[in-house]
Amino acid sequence: MPDRTTDAWRHLDAAHHLHPFTDYKALAAEGSRIIVRADGCSLWDSEGTEILDGMAGLWCVNVGYGRDELVQAAARQMSELPYYNLFFKTATRPAIELASRLADLAPPGLDHAFFANSGSEANDTIIRMVRQYWALEGHPERRVIIGRQNGYHGSTVAAASMGGMSAMHKQGGGTLPDFHHIREPHHFKYAQDQDPEAFGREAAGWLEEAIQAIGPERVAAFVGEPVQGAGGLIVPPPGYWAEIQRICSKHDILLIVDEVICGFGRTGQWFGSQTFDIRPDIMTLAKGLSSGYLPIAAVMVGQRIGRTLVEKGGEFVHGFTYSGHPTACAVALETLSIMERERLVERVRDDVGPYLMERLGALREHPLVGEVRGVGLMAGVELIRDKTAHAFFSPVGKVGTRCRDHCFNNNVIIRAVADTMVLSPPLVITPAQIDHMVDTLTRSLDQTEQDLPTLMA
Ligand code: PMP
Repeated sequence: MPDRTTDAWRHLDAAHHLHPFTDYKALAAEGSRIIVRADGCSLWDSEGTEILDGMAGLWCVNVGYGRDELVQAAARQMSELPYYNLFFKTATRPAIELASRLADLAPPGLDHAFFANSGSEANDTIIRMVRQYWALEGHPERRVIIGRQNGYHGSTVAAASMGGMSAMHKQGGGTLPDFHHIREPHHFKYAQDQDPEAFGREAAGWLEEAIQAIGPERVAAFVGEPVQGAGGLIVPPPGYWAEIQRICSKHDILLIVDEVICGFGRTGQWFGSQTFDIRPDIMTLAKGLSSGYLPIAAVMVGQRIGRTLVEKGGEFVHGFTYSGHPTACAVALETLSIMERERLVERVRDDVGPYLMERLGALREHPLVGEVRGVGLMAGVELIRDKTAHAFFSPVGKVGTRCRDHCFNNNVIIRAVADTMVLSPPLVITPAQIDHMVDTLTRSLDQTEQDLPTLMA
């Protein structure tokens, strides 16, 4: 890389680079922080400042940065076979090996993998696959996919339609047809005084209502993240998923589980489906699959859909140049080996996960904190204007963003989704680093509280 000053990098960035999910004018006024290197759970910026990454990149660098094993796996594969496609009756060893490893790891029955490069592409694949399944079964009218408000399934036009992010729907002219969204099972937002289990049944009942309104014969599938991540770290109440599963079975509707964030140890099991006892027909994987070192995603296809696609399908007219990219597959395989060797899933379940929740629990006393929720190594701290009156901030998001900026200036990355502070560190985080992360969040909350009179004036 050329040797430039931080200011020169910022200038070039503002002049030529459009970032994802960014207000360009605001960023140009402020300037990007230039990240130059990383190791373990730490990043360094171009000024040499160390930053603790409480978000594992974008919920993906599960095994931490600086893993030479992954560098070597990529280098070996690139020397041997950097690329080949899988379209015309060819396969590569890393793609076959990874498909078979994933079939072993995934919940029972999910025994075929279709590869893509991102969670969005994998979800687009699922949309096509699910509708193709119903067409092959003689029900082409079963096209509607029901998702949830504030569900996130990606940024392509189809994946964003399946997701329930209203800001995304507003840009570019709404959603594609045949997508529907029910309310998310957000106990703190909708029903904090209600018994969580009763609320879980009620929230799952919104699916039944939607199916009845649309007509069961038109519904292809329901889609959900085990824990909604980008929508605000929404942990489903007890019984919610069991009831969703029952409703799907009753109406013979396929269950799609998006494990892009929850997969690969985040919830303290290999998959969120195991943590919440969900039996999906089809599942999306990405992020932790390669720990973010290279772009790769997979659709894990269960036997019901798989059998129909294989036996009745003819050509499945879908795929990507880089589906099953051998270098990305080699890195994913090595990532899985690291996870197993270092028992990272067990570490989250028994050790750092409970420790993070214990440390965050103390924040419930903070005047700004309405709720602390989480599972495994993913947590949300929801900020609220008035605890007694259960009054949220208005406009939503200003306070969360201010707190996030304080965390960033205090050299810890913690994200804000509206007014919920979200933590999702690498699975290798140490208890001392958790202490540092939570102490910094506490200090940033204090700073945010002091800012309130001017911020909300
Ligand atoms: N599904 C979920 C649950 C996600 O969190 C994300 C990304 N945050 C996606 C899908 C989309 O993945 P990608 O950004 O790799 O397209």
